[in-house]
Amino acid sequence: MMEMGKYLKRVGDDLWFTETDRDNLKIDYRIKDIVFSETSPFQHIMILDSYDFGRMLVLDDAIQTTAKEGYIYNEMITHIPLNIHPNPKNILIIGGGDCGAAREVAKYPNVERIDMVEIDEMVVQASKAHLKEVSGDLSDPRVNFIFDDGASYVKQKRDYLYDVVIIDSSDPVGPALKLFELEFYTDVYNALAEDGLMACQSESPVFYSEMMVNINSRLRSLYPIVKLYLATVPTYPGGFWSFTIGSKKYKDTNPDAFDKETKYVNKDILESCFALPNFVKERLEID
Ligand code: SAM
Repeated sequence: MMEMGKYLKRVGDDLWFTETDRDNLKIDYRIKDIVFSETSPFQHIMILDSYDFGRMLVLDDAIQTTAKEGYIYNEMITHIPLNIHPNPKNILIIGGGDCGAAREVAKYPNVERIDMVEIDEMVVQASKAHLKEVSGDLSDPRVNFIFDDGASYVKQKRDYLYDVVIIDSSDPVGPALKLFELEFYTDVYNALAEDGLMACQSESPVFYSEMMVNINSRLRSLYPIVKLYLATVPTYPGGFWSFTIGSKKYKDTNPDAFDKETKYVNKDILESCFALPNFVKERLEID
């Protein structure tokens, strides 16, 4: 018998998962099946098969990614920074346990190393076994799984620097909290080559704009170039989601160089991704 999790309820013959991300907003998803449900030393992990979004990865009752639309987030957090950097070879992914980001990075033949530092091995195992729509088979030998805390990993000395760091973390609670702090961003800055850049998910501009602004100002204190971009992720609270780039040298995308097979990112998206609505510009105090 699978653990039900706090927010799974039977209503008549139906099973519903309620996401209670906010005090005054709850969203219900009708579920066909509980595919996986276990508690790791870090969090409660579920893979649910839902009617509208297919299989979904749920960590501590928050939806992380789904079979139906996980590609939007995973393509945006990877292809934008990888297209800005003219020749990325060493890539670090922090978090990203669903393996969707690593799968996108593996589309770049010139990338030589993909270090993926995920705190929770069980998320990777569950995603590879039960969420192949997101993880793919990820047998690429360049992917080097390191099961460690991303914040301690970036403090360690290595004999190489990274060209691109992708911070694919869960929301700033529990073990992910450190991944939003200035100390961590400073360590990431130091782990980057002199022309390196990083990209992170920077929360909802609608519901968590304070966090988005904090991330922006922490990165502005380190990098000469800081840019924000948005995507609509239907299963994230508020729909809109933000990503932030901190770059030591490169600032523009190079749409003509983009030749990857994708479902969301294309040359037009790369051309226009830094166009922001007024309410976001006002929050960031940029023109
Ligand atoms: N796309 C997702 C989102 O924004 O909801 C995030 C994807 S991924 C599943 C987030 C991963 O970050 C989780 O697998 C979690 O275990 C991992 N994580 C949280 N804190 C971490 C830390 N301190 N170091 C490394 N990985 C961490």
